[in-house]
Amino acid sequence: MKIIENPDEMRSMLKREREAGRRIAFVPTMGNLHAGHSELVRRAGDDAEVVVVSIFVNPFQFSADEDFAGYPRTLADDLAELGRLRAYATFVPDGRTIYPQGESAVTRVEVPRLSGYLCGASRPHFFRGVCTVVTILFNIIEPDVALFGQKDYQQLLVIRRMVRDLHMPMEVRGIPTVREPDGLAMSSRNRYLDAAGRARAAGLFRALCRARARLIAGERDFADVEADGLGEMKAAGFEADYFSIRRRSDLEAPADPDDDLVVLGAGWLGTARLIDNVLVREGQPL
Ligand code: AMP
Repeated sequence: MKIIENPDEMRSMLKREREAGRRIAFVPTMGNLHAGHSELVRRAGDDAEVVVVSIFVNPFQFSADEDFAGYPRTLADDLAELGRLRAYATFVPDGRTIYPQGESAVTRVEVPRLSGYLCGASRPHFFRGVCTVVTILFNIIEPDVALFGQKDYQQLLVIRRMVRDLHMPMEVRGIPTVREPDGLAMSSRNRYLDAAGRARAAGLFRALCRARARLIAGERDFADVEADGLGEMKAAGFEADYFSIRRRSDLEAPADPDDDLVVLGAGWLGTARLIDNVLVREGQPL
């Protein structure tokens, strides 16, 4: 597997692959790879001959009081895993390559409305940082398809909207969430949990599943389901941020009884901010 820091080198290498008629799939990550990331890389391989992964802890999506400095960085292990998965190349740019004038001076990409809900309400800087870095990475890699996890459901929809609005010539694929045996969604931030927090963390998924079961059973008092979900999160020890039933297509409040729904939750367990979601009707492609 090639390990590349320089965008021009990446570009010329991928140009040769494209000219040879090979499809390129791209998986952007912040590293500290776990089985969720590995699944994205495997699924990318089902989709394209050339799989490119990026590892870049993006300063622009963290606010000053968030965990950028302490974010787990495990590059050697990550590269070994990507080698085992037979990725074609890993792009590991440094901060100055991506933001030569610093991130505060870079051209920004913003998706209005959709970025303002849920995680965007408590982290207003977040999706601007994600969209900006993903646009830069897309312009370097020029993939045919890019893969994102359902675990970050709002992020998946925001990126898809950005790609459509800006006529980026690629497909965005969502991949179902990979979970620990007790249901906890795998996440690099699970590392911040102490033993007591880890024992409580699957409470978020259980609350989401209970809400989903009520909705499947025909419950339509969404406010009541949301209030109970928040209560369950608190009972599990979370400082809840939100527990919300939204329309699956655009995260607006459901308006029609036939709307496809997603239930999303976020909250803090100690220093770990955990998010998760479940689709009420599973089985449709993401
Ligand atoms: P991150 O490194 O946290 O920025 O995540 C990189 C990509 O992996 C994103 O598209 C995430 O949605 C995806 N991802 C993270 N956790 C999981 C998981 N448990 N299952 C599936 N995909 C995931």
